[in-house]
Amino acid sequence: MQTTLTDSAEEAAAILNSGRVVAFPTETVYGLGASIYHPEAIKRVFQAKGRPGDNPLIVHIYSLEQLADIAVEINSDARKLIDRFFPGPLTLVLKKNPLIPDAVTGGLATVGVRCPANPVAREFLRLSACPVAAPSANLSGLPSATSWEAVYEDLEGKIDCVLRGNPSSIGLESTIVDCSGSKPLLLRAGAITFEQLQTVVPEIATNTNPDKQAPPKSPGLKYPHYAPKAAIILCHTDETRSVAPSSAYIGLSEPPEGISLFKRCQNLEEYGCELFSFFRRCDSKGIERIYCELPSNQGLGRAIRDRLMRAAGKK
Ligand code: AMP
Ligand code: MG
Repeated sequence: MQTTLTDSAEEAAAILNSGRVVAFPTETVYGLGASIYHPEAIKRVFQAKGRPGDNPLIVHIYSLEQLADIAVEINSDARKLIDRFFPGPLTLVLKKNPLIPDAVTGGLATVGVRCPANPVAREFLRLSACPVAAPSANLSGLPSATSWEAVYEDLEGKIDCVLRGNPSSIGLESTIVDCSGSKPLLLRAGAITFEQLQTVVPEIATNTNPDKQAPPKSPGLKYPHYAPKAAIILCHTDETRSVAPSSAYIGLSEPPEGISLFKRCQNLEEYGCELFSFFRRCDSKGIERIYCELPSNQGLGRAIRDRLMRAAGKK
């Protein structure tokens, strides 16, 4: 299959509406989209990525008016989060409208909904004029793609089109909050931080709260994620160590001595933004080990920690 590269949101939307599969830029990571009204295209999203069928897709919308087509019984906490954070890097899990095909939600009675803020994503979704189901545009298990080049590297020949945009400004997948139950629950940390969510819905709990009895987990999170070919070694700020040859480092502190490739980030925002592209760069250079500084669980640190722990197979 020929993969069309285009800068035209109009061309990409026409391809999507003809029942084909299109990767597009968003502020979090690139998405691999299909119209929710084209079941064959939804199937092809799973095939192209090698994604298990029970791992649900997020439905992307342009306008809040589309919400009623997607979700039912939207409670007051969800409304508050929508008012405060849409459009933006937040996905809400809501009770699904029966019209949403089961293939989109991995058979769940709930649906993840997001309204991206990236202007190219918005133009693409506006012209598509339908809700677009999309997971991250990478091969299943690998680091998410934060540039069109990374999408192309993973999916060339497997998808119909890549809408080219700038590298993703955040570089980490959306924050996911489950609002389908009596209390909001943070399922996946992201650029909208737990602390920011607490200012709007103070009752919000995290998935890992020990006093919560078996909250429903996000099924996709049970699969291995974000892992480069290189081994990931988690390290702490105060550790100085000499490293094995063919090692790389990413973090906020000084790199260890003897490192072949490193990225020292100025702040957590830069760390989040660079993480997945750094993993891919290390793999392309045949690096064997990547030392990654584990930030604290505050603010954006929570999302970076989560991705690092998963990449290291520790979560
Ligand atoms: P990705 O954007 O590739 O990380 O894929 C979307 C992720 O969103 C899935 O792996 C799930 O973790 C999560 N998700 C999507 N829909 C739901 C849902 N209805 N319930 C819980 N989690 C969801
Ligand atoms: Mg993904």
